[in-house]
Amino acid sequence: MFKALVLDQVEGETMADIKQLDESVLPDGEVLIDVTYSSLNYKDGLAVTGKGPIISKFPAIPGIDLVGQVVSSEDVRFVPGMQVIVTGWGVGERHWGGMAARARMKADWIVPLPDGMTAQTAMAIGTAGLTAMLCVLALEEAGVKPEQGPVLVTGASGGVGSVAIALLAKQGFEVVAATGRVEEEPYLRKLGAQAIRPRDEMSAACRPLEKQRWAGVVDTVGGVVLSRALAETNYGGAVAACGLAGSADLPTTVMPFILRNVRLQGVDSVSCPTARRTDAWARLQRELDPQLFDDLVQEISLEQVPEYAQRIVSGAVRGRTIVKIG
Ligand code: NDP
Repeated sequence: MFKALVLDQVEGETMADIKQLDESVLPDGEVLIDVTYSSLNYKDGLAVTGKGPIISKFPAIPGIDLVGQVVSSEDVRFVPGMQVIVTGWGVGERHWGGMAARARMKADWIVPLPDGMTAQTAMAIGTAGLTAMLCVLALEEAGVKPEQGPVLVTGASGGVGSVAIALLAKQGFEVVAATGRVEEEPYLRKLGAQAIRPRDEMSAACRPLEKQRWAGVVDTVGGVVLSRALAETNYGGAVAACGLAGSADLPTTVMPFILRNVRLQGVDSVSCPTARRTDAWARLQRELDPQLFDDLVQEISLEQVPEYAQRIVSGAVRGRTIVKIG
C-alpha cells in the first residue's frame, strides 16, 4: 500500500483526498518508482481545484513532475536504485502522476537525475524550470544576444518567470520583470532582474506597434500582455510564448511580424523530445546557482497540496513549490 493524493469528481466538483492505494491499481509502464518529491505547477493547481480541464479520467493522481528512485524496471536503461526525473508526457493529466509515494511510468518518459543534482533541486526546477530553459533556448536559437538590449519576462514571480529571470541574468542579459506584485521587487532583483515593469502597464490598451524596447521576451501570461510584448519587441527580436496565466487569447495584428521582422516562437515542454529535454536538464544543472533556490523554493506536504493549489491558480504563489512525498 502507498499514500496518494486522489482526485475524484462528485456532482461535477473535483474532490482531493489522501488515500492508501494498492500497487496493483497503478497504470501500465515499464518502470516502478519510489517517489520522493513532486512539485506544484500552475497546471497542477488547475487539476487539483478542478478549475481547468486537465484530468482526462477520474479517479486520478495529479502531479506533472516527480523525482524518485527506481524500484524495478523492465527496460535495460533503468536499474533499481537509479535516481530519475519524470515531467510532461501527459503525466498528472492522462497518466497518474507524481503526488503519490509510488508511480509506474513508461521508460521513454524518464530522464536520469543529472549527476550532482539533489531530488529537491530537480523538483525546484521541475516543469516550470524546464520550460524556462526551453524559452531561453528559443531566444538563443532566434539569435537574441545580451548586447542587443533588455529582455522582458512576464509573470515574473511565478515558477517559469522566476527561473527564466535567473537563467537570462546569468547569461548577461539586462532582465526587466513584468509583475502584478510590485512588492516582490526585492525577490525579483535578487534573482537577477534589473528593473520592474508593473503588470497594469503591460495590460494597458496598445497600438499595433509601440516604442521598441525588447531584444527578446519570455511570456508566461498570454492575452493583452503578449500582444503588448509583441508590439514593443525590437526589429528582428523574438518572443518565446509558453503560458496563459492571464489569458489564452492573443488580440494582436500582423504588424510586429511584417514590419519589424519579429519572431513569435511557441514553447512546449510536455512533448519536448528526450534529447532536447536531457540537454536542457544538463544546462539547468550547470547554469542555475544552487543558492538561488533558498529564495525561490518552498516545501509543502502532500496534505497541503489542495490549499496551495487554490493559491497558485489565484496567482498568489511565489517561485516554486516542492511537495515532499517519501
Ligand atoms: P505560476 O502560477 O507559478 O506563475 C504564473 C504567474 O503569472 C503568476 O505568478 C503571476 O506573476 C502571473 N499571473 C497570474 N495571473 C495573471 C493574470 N491574470 N494576468 C497576468 N499575469 C498573471 O505558473 P507557472 O510559472 O508554473 O506557469 C506559468 C504559465 O506557463 C501557466 O500558464 C502554465 O500553464 C504555463 N506553462 C506552460 C508550459 C508549456 O510547456 N508550454 C509548461 C509550464 C507552464 P506576477 O504576480 O509576477 O505577475
